[in-house]
Amino acid sequence: MSITAAMPTAKERPRRTRTKRVSKLPAIKLSQLLPSHIDLRDPLKAVLVCGDCETWVPITGMQSKVQKLVPHHTGKAGVAAAIHCRSSNRRVEFDMTIPEWRQVLTDAVKEASSRQATAVLPKAFSPQTDRTLRARAERTLAGRLADWDAVLPRVADADKNRRAIPAGDAPTEGAAVPLDTLHPQRPAR
Ligand SMILES: [Zn+2]
Repeated sequence: MSITAAMPTAKERPRRTRTKRVSKLPAIKLSQLLPSHIDLRDPLKAVLVCGDCETWVPITGMQSKVQKLVPHHTGKAGVAAAIHCRSSNRRVEFDMTIPEWRQVLTDAVKEASSRQATAVLPKAFSPQTDRTLRARAERTLAGRLADWDAVLPRVADADKNRRAIPAGDAPTEGAAVPLDTLHPQRPAR
């Protein structure tokens, strides 16, 4: 059989899908992959290297409870033949946090930099971003209550600061206010 234009080629990979399908294969655990085969720098565009087809595949469901590889063909979009990868819709188990991933990647890069000249490290997330992502990952009722509990002391502090009246009656900035009472004398006639 000769190759003709009518032969279907691999499709572009969606970044997110809503399908409820889940692969019967066991979940992929992040801790079992090479840290360099995972990219969580932008968690909403998380990708990892599929162990079956050895290509970068987006992870869907980053804001919901279950994370999965999106359905994908094994080869390059528009070039390779349309062969369904058996790891499509396979669950991804986040058994390490994003900061933990960044740490093992950093360690791996440091280790490798003794051999390689340049290394590019992912930009660190702020603690706030990290908290938000963790909260998203655990969007259960208990998780939400824990979030509220965690934030309450800070809310109370902010309220207290708002109510507080600065000590003293002198402005803290600007020219000093003269405090001595002046008693000007009328000039003698
Ligand atoms: Zn694959």
